[in-house]
Amino acid sequence: MKVGFIGLGHMGAPMSRNVLAAGHDLVVHDVRPDAAAGLLAAGASWAGSPREAGADRDVVITMLPGPSQVEEVLLGPDGLLAGLPARATWIDMSTSVPAVADKVRAAAGSSGVGVLDAPVAGGITGATDGTLQIFVGAATEDYLRFRPLLEAMGERERILHVGSHGAGYTVKLMLNLLWFASVTLTAEALTIGVRAGVDVATLRRSLLTSAAASHFLEHDVLSVLERGDFDDSFALALACKDLGLAVDLARQTGVPAEMSAMVEQIYRRARAQYGDQGGQMLPMKLLEDLTATPLRLSEPQE
Ligand code: NAD
Repeated sequence: MKVGFIGLGHMGAPMSRNVLAAGHDLVVHDVRPDAAAGLLAAGASWAGSPREAGADRDVVITMLPGPSQVEEVLLGPDGLLAGLPARATWIDMSTSVPAVADKVRAAAGSSGVGVLDAPVAGGITGATDGTLQIFVGAATEDYLRFRPLLEAMGERERILHVGSHGAGYTVKLMLNLLWFASVTLTAEALTIGVRAGVDVATLRRSLLTSAAASHFLEHDVLSVLERGDFDDSFALALACKDLGLAVDLARQTGVPAEMSAMVEQIYRRARAQYGDQGGQMLPMKLLEDLTATPLRLSEPQE
């Protein structure tokens, strides 16, 4: 297929490399031309604008920070939509919202341009190894048509068709909401327990054999507990964007979401304290700093 890829950051660079490795003809674009150096050396071609990235392509993938960048790239000056041939397809793999994709579909009108949302989970490791989880919101025939391309980036069994337009964005936002809530609540439970005198390793082990066990407590929290690593592969600025979008969705759907709003505020506090590029688990450090209680294991866990 003739594929375009726009947004070559932490995730987009390795994802587009896997598209290239699967044998597709690839054109890439980013506002930072240096982000494309490795891909151009590997055989991709450069496009000077989103519009150029769309010319003569069958499909163009975007992997951008969020809704405002997606709108700018699609509908802004020299935007992708103006460059896409009739009956080409745009696949947005960014964590964004249905409203922007709806605007693009409205602007595309009867041109025949197809639109899929296919946001991902699995982080930089999944992007590099081609084992991402992918949540696709699309008509069934579009999902089936583009599944082989998505398989270049994701794990077969974890590429899920979750509904029609917009459903992929929604599933991804709810996943992140729950994960960020786990970060904040796990930090509180561990800090309270440790300050009450229980050893952190014992506390974690006990919780893991209980009904309160979680994937977060078993796996993800270990980077903080073992290494004091707050995981800057996903920036606080992006986490705050996702939490804001999740709370917006609660508002739009009329759901009272007190806990979600609280988690968003904690993340905004961490961003103000540690900066936009700080790691996604820094809300745990907020509590460590406030209570002078570092959560560290003395020995690595098996
Ligand atoms: P990133 O900030 O590393 O990359 C974004 C890229 O988009 C950058 O290279 C930037 O230069 C480019 N860009 C921004 N505005 C642009 C524009 N107007 N035109 C062209 N290029 C532009 O972000 P990331 O970590 O790769 O995340 C990308 C998306 O994937 C986000 O929506 C994020 O929420 C989601 N996501 C990230 C992770 C992760 O672990 N990092 C995991 C799952 C999903």
